[in-house]
Amino acid sequence: MVNYKDLGLVNTREMFAKAVDGGYAIPAFNFNNMEQLQAIIKACAETKSPVILQVSSGARKYANQTLLRYMAEGAVEYAKELGWEHPQICLHLDHGDTFELCKSCVDFGFSSVMIDGSSLPYEENIALTKKVVEYAHQYDVTVEAELGVLAGVEDDVVAEESHYTKPEEVIDFATRTGCDSLAISIGTSHGAYKFKPEQCTRDPKTGKLVPPPLAFNVLEEVEKKLPGFPIVLHGSSSVPQEYVDIINTHGGNLPDAVGIPEDQLRKAAKSAVCKINIDSDSRLAFTAAVRKVLAEKPGEFDPRKYCGPARDEMVKLYKHKIIEVLGSDGKAE
Ligand SMILES: [Zn+2]
Repeated sequence: MVNYKDLGLVNTREMFAKAVDGGYAIPAFNFNNMEQLQAIIKACAETKSPVILQVSSGARKYANQTLLRYMAEGAVEYAKELGWEHPQICLHLDHGDTFELCKSCVDFGFSSVMIDGSSLPYEENIALTKKVVEYAHQYDVTVEAELGVLAGVEDDVVAEESHYTKPEEVIDFATRTGCDSLAISIGTSHGAYKFKPEQCTRDPKTGKLVPPPLAFNVLEEVEKKLPGFPIVLHGSSSVPQEYVDIINTHGGNLPDAVGIPEDQLRKAAKSAVCKINIDSDSRLAFTAAVRKVLAEKPGEFDPRKYCGPARDEMVKLYKHKIIEVLGSDGKAE
């Protein structure tokens, strides 16, 4: 048993309370490797932003859970080395799908876990979430739950059809499960292909897809039912077209990749939404930088020469999100 407090990590409770009051959102960035983690910590240290480091079950398979935990522990020390006096770093399991997985993360030093029972019938989602909450709260680990289904593909999470969260269910769900935050579905989606072309319109000037707007009416209804309760948005990458273009002009092929416009996320961050998950944008930044170096310098074979620029590009991306989209800069001095 490893307690996250001994690793210098924090849970989400205080982070979210401040974010709800302050009208901003905490960035939740996924990481799978050293360069991504370095970029996240550097961006957060330079902007003094609290951060949620997310580990998906796919990341646990890719990078090994023991190594990931030590990396998060190292991240706290690295943040201090960078001059961030009081780093507020949460280590969070993204899309836990079983009690056993959540328990193993709690036992392994995670400070927060998500139990995603959103694909289960309502009562089963409640029972599973409640079981995880009861276990996690014994160790002061916070729990995110989900109601409603997001479309798209993210590691092991695949859903063909999305349906919005039903606002009439949220009070009952939050009360009976005791969860600390709730991921809702208002039209965001996992992956770099968030919408099918037939769901979008096309900008006549650029030929690029324009996605449908988020269902802010659903978000407002949820806020009315649960005033001040921390709400989470998954699948909230914006799929920057400059990265898609760099990828496509340097040997890649991502036709019609489209995300959530940043002005909509900015609007959401000012509401009860206090955690916004961003994963695909960092993958795109990494891939664009790597493709560019390899296309321009075919003789390059030192991974540091293409992973280094990829890391620099991710730092830029994370800082942009923190300052321009989430508003979390300066909230963790
Ligand atoms: Zn997700």
